[in-house]
Amino acid sequence: MSLTVLMNAGPWLEVPPAGYGGIENVVATLVPELRRLGVRVVLASVGNSTLPAEERVHTFGTGQFAALQRPYNQVCGVAQAHLNMVVRAVRERPEVDLIHDHVEAVGLGTLAAMGADAPPALHTLHWDLAKHPALYGAFDGGDRVRVNGVSAAQLARAPEALRAHSVGHVHLATPLAVGANRRRTPDKGEHVVILGRITPGKGQDLGARLAHRYGFPLILAGPVGPFHRPQDLAAADDGARQNPDVRYWHEQVAPHVDGDRVRWVGTVGGRARDELLATAKAALFPLRWEEPGGTAVVESLALGTPVVATARGCLPELVTHGQTGLLTSAEEELGELVLAAGLLEAGRCREVAAARFTPAVMAARYLELYHRVRGLAGIPLVRPGRQRVDRLAASLGSDSAG
Ligand code: UDP
Repeated sequence: MSLTVLMNAGPWLEVPPAGYGGIENVVATLVPELRRLGVRVVLASVGNSTLPAEERVHTFGTGQFAALQRPYNQVCGVAQAHLNMVVRAVRERPEVDLIHDHVEAVGLGTLAAMGADAPPALHTLHWDLAKHPALYGAFDGGDRVRVNGVSAAQLARAPEALRAHSVGHVHLATPLAVGANRRRTPDKGEHVVILGRITPGKGQDLGARLAHRYGFPLILAGPVGPFHRPQDLAAADDGARQNPDVRYWHEQVAPHVDGDRVRWVGTVGGRARDELLATAKAALFPLRWEEPGGTAVVESLALGTPVVATARGCLPELVTHGQTGLLTSAEEELGELVLAAGLLEAGRCREVAAARFTPAVMAARYLELYHRVRGLAGIPLVRPGRQRVDRLAASLGSDSAG
């Protein structure tokens, strides 16, 4: 018997995403490996997603990312419309054994409200768990709804009621880790990269000030609110400043961006992103928040680029100080650590990534959690030995395994 999982990637971006897209990248990395392990996947996403799955379902034709930046009364219906479709899709498909959901807040609430006859569900927490105290502080998903984190540090911050539903954490993975230990290191440039959304928690303003003070070239890659290209942000009217990340950019980051020592290149995707990261001297994460999962961290390591970061959130779990990166809890030390990053070996970063952060490692762990979640919901575990007997019986055309 193979598992059928409804994988809910949400309504925000297509899977795989064209450029920026943390959660969508995780889903795009996980699903092919699960299918290789024999899991059947119904992907709930948006209409222009191209990720192969047994079936794809959607409400919106394209990603609703831009709506995310609008006020609550304009945006709240988007996630709910998507989740209504997910509930219908599950009800119409009795073969769904488990729902794996990735939609912030609304996903968890809807799963819990689905009632006892719905399949067991695993909700992956991709964000800072200090958010949504009203929901997390009193959450009750019974035996049927479980959560997992993307790092131990993240789960440690969860309110007790949420932690009571946790089945542990799964570190993020990247396809770039596959065979990373066998890749050669490209010639390194002098530049340092900050890869990620431009937002106060990621600390681009601090990175930019350090670049000027310590004299290293810094490239900022990532969107500012809904704007992926500098020309689009430049053309935006004043209303765009309602967005806190746009305000952060104008007030705290842009004054340090001179187009020479510090440059913003917008969102970079695909080969261009990999090249930018692989040739960087270091990937800098001057964090001002507890980074929950850090996809860009594992991507940097897989591309042989040491990580220089504030030792917050998941960073100490993903990066070994002195081997694959340099960590400090004093942000004023980051500039000196950037200058020292050239002493670290690219090959060591790639080796660690190949051992720890491959999609296969992540998928094996999720499969284990799916069985655990089903077991906790009172559904007997399917033992691998038994699966083999069933397969053998099917291939012999006999029902003797029953
Ligand atoms: N990303 C990208 N291009 C950019 C900026 C970011 O492809 O210009 C990707 C990055 O490589 C990573 C994801 O977006 O895969 C960001 O995920 P992460 O967990 O690092 O941060 P989040 O934004 O989810 O907090």
